[in-house]
Amino acid sequence: MAGKSKTKYSGGVKQDRKILLLLAAVILIPVLLYTGLELSRVRERENLLRESYRAQLKAILFSVNQRCWDTVESWGNHLRMITQRSSPRVEPQELSALLEELPRRYSPIAGAFVKQQDSWSFGVAGSLAGSRTAMQEMIAAALIDSARQVQRLTSQAAKGYFRALPIQFNAAREQDWDLLFVFSLADSSRLAHEMLGGLLISSRIFVDRIVQPYVSTFREQGLTVTVASDSSTILANDRAREDIATRLWILPRFTLAIQTEGQTSGELASAKTQQSLFVIVMLNVAILAAVFVLMRTLWRETQLARLKADFVAHVSHDLRTPLGLIRMFAETLMLGRAREEEKKHEYYGIIAREAERLTHMVNNVLDFSRLEAGGKEFAMHDLLLNEVIANALASYRFHLQQRQFRVEEKIANRLPPVKGDAQAVSQAFLNLLDNAIKYSDQNKHIIVEVDCNERHAIVRVTDHGRGIAPQYHDKIFNKFYRIDHAGGDSKGAGIGLAIVQHIMQAHHGSVEVQSAPGKGSTFSLKFPLHKELHGNDTDH
Ligand code: ADP
Repeated sequence: MAGKSKTKYSGGVKQDRKILLLLAAVILIPVLLYTGLELSRVRERENLLRESYRAQLKAILFSVNQRCWDTVESWGNHLRMITQRSSPRVEPQELSALLEELPRRYSPIAGAFVKQQDSWSFGVAGSLAGSRTAMQEMIAAALIDSARQVQRLTSQAAKGYFRALPIQFNAAREQDWDLLFVFSLADSSRLAHEMLGGLLISSRIFVDRIVQPYVSTFREQGLTVTVASDSSTILANDRAREDIATRLWILPRFTLAIQTEGQTSGELASAKTQQSLFVIVMLNVAILAAVFVLMRTLWRETQLARLKADFVAHVSHDLRTPLGLIRMFAETLMLGRAREEEKKHEYYGIIAREAERLTHMVNNVLDFSRLEAGGKEFAMHDLLLNEVIANALASYRFHLQQRQFRVEEKIANRLPPVKGDAQAVSQAFLNLLDNAIKYSDQNKHIIVEVDCNERHAIVRVTDHGRGIAPQYHDKIFNKFYRIDHAGGDSKGAGIGLAIVQHIMQAHHGSVEVQSAPGKGSTFSLKFPLHKELHGNDTDH
């Protein structure tokens, strides 16, 4: 029987649980769906992010290329200005002198030339002065090789669109120039003649003086831009780090590569993704915790409300029994059905004791609310526990007889007095006795003991009923806490033991339980016998 004990679990409680679970689901489902959606889009986001990082890096490489191109164009404009400044009939020697300004000013330029029909003018860096003829031959050959592009250059210039035509030479490494930029110098006034100009450039010096200083400015932004003539070395590093490389437009033999310092764009993207995953996870944890706390609070509140409602129902039910008995015996007497004096006397006695029991019940409820509100006053006097308990027991005799209980009294005759409130002490005792009756089932044998040891005066109520499983020993003293014994018809409001505990605390004592399921229970009230507690009259 004992193993069947369980906490009270009515249909209403199930209903409450359902509603709360539904509420939790309503909050959690959208959150979890959103989280799921976010998680499923993590890869997609990461790729997008990586692509956008790569696009930014590509834009930087584009700007380097653009910058180089602009530089060459500006030199071309300079060349154009020189030729336009000179009169149409200027001598080639004179023009050569003017052209010398270009290599002097811009270190990557090894030489500049202007070709009008078959007349060539050269402005070269001082160290190259001797190689003019060789230069002219190479340039002339290159112009013939690229005749079609040169033709296009000239016709575009006629339409007012000037651009440079790069021609790469397979020059030896140590040579001072390896690249030629050809410009059409024809303008509306000189369209009649084919007039070409060009700049001979050393790629190495161009990279050192123009490209390197520019790309090094990106270092501040945590970006490394590398320019290398041997593309294979860059691409080898490159592949492992999945960075971005492109050819330099004006120096096709050079490769431009960019990499973020420390992290690649992929690593950056996955770091960002991890960050947002972390935030999502933390948010979820916070929401789950909040929902858990909310649900627990709601659960407690609904259970308390339910317990209060049960409490009222139980109290009303409990009051009915003594009221019914009082009414029945009062009516019997009123109608003159009891003739013998002895019977009448017995019935008066029953009415008086049931009224007393009723008072005890009402007091229980009233005291409970007073104790809860902290407003209960105790009138402390020297008490002889044996007398208080014997009197209280007497008021229950009829009730006990009616239910065929056998009460074994082991009440010591002589006891030292304890400080206490007689009414409260008998109330605590009667609550224990009430429970012993309610939870006894077949074995209706109750033992009431009052004795003392060196430190305590002790009242014990022992029954041989259902007993209480150990896990409930602490809980039963909580207000409204009840164990619903399967198969039992135990009615109660769940406040009896809470009141006992309150009363014992007010007496600086304690209440203890020893119980085993199926064997019965012993509840002990321990009152301290300390001298100092006997000193003042109103403790509470
Ligand atoms: P109730 O009005 O339910 O009796 P109490 O506060 O007096 O409220 O007791 C709380 C619970 O402790 C009871 O529901 C009952 O399950 C258990 N209990 C108390 N006394 C006994 C006892 N003598 N034997 C078995 N169970 C008991």
